[in-house]
Amino acid sequence: MLTKEIQIAVEKGEMLPLMEEFYTIQGEGYHTGTAAYFIRIGGCDVGCHWCDVKESWNAALHPPTKTDIIVGNAKKYAKTIVVTGGEPLTWDMTVLTQKLKAENLQVHIETSGAYPVTGNWDWFCLSPKKNKLPVADAYAIAHELKVIIYNKHDFIFAEEQAAKVNKNAILFLQPEWSKKEEMTPLIVDYVMNNPKWRVSLQTHKYLNIP
Ligand code: SF4
Repeated sequence: MLTKEIQIAVEKGEMLPLMEEFYTIQGEGYHTGTAAYFIRIGGCDVGCHWCDVKESWNAALHPPTKTDIIVGNAKKYAKTIVVTGGEPLTWDMTVLTQKLKAENLQVHIETSGAYPVTGNWDWFCLSPKKNKLPVADAYAIAHELKVIIYNKHDFIFAEEQAAKVNKNAILFLQPEWSKKEEMTPLIVDYVMNNPKWRVSLQTHKYLNIP
């Protein structure tokens, strides 16, 4: 049971339910192959059946942690910080991103965009989910649109999402890991026929790193 004081600090974004943090290589999307410090915030109710971090869903399992502590750890390791989840925009990201930027760090987010956009982001990776579509602001500010392909219908969903995102967003199709043998060849063909898209792979999983 959280004390009232901690609950208020979490509501203000001064504390966040930290699931894990680690220095690794960004495996997916536009910044693939580059070193980054990942901050994984617990809490997500989007409910993707193929989610590979279901242990993040219940925020109560992850200790509310002061943003000063999170930032203090992050700045020791990297110049680029990726905030992920769970769904980080479940929470108010204003304080965390202010503090990261005050340390001259590049601040990226990986989000479904399902909740109001808070925080100040140098790179906004929008990965929409059918269960809870993104809010308008997320489409407007996305630098990157990354659609996960689990089945053939997801190509139709990807085009619907591309029609909604701002015109400068870079478009990626990424096979869902458990379906990669089946879907990767389809994605390759699709991208050759529709070259506005690029292929994204979960290269960190091939490299056996977090
Ligand atoms: S939005 Fe992300 S964390 Fe949430 S259920 Fe879907 S894949 Fe998992």
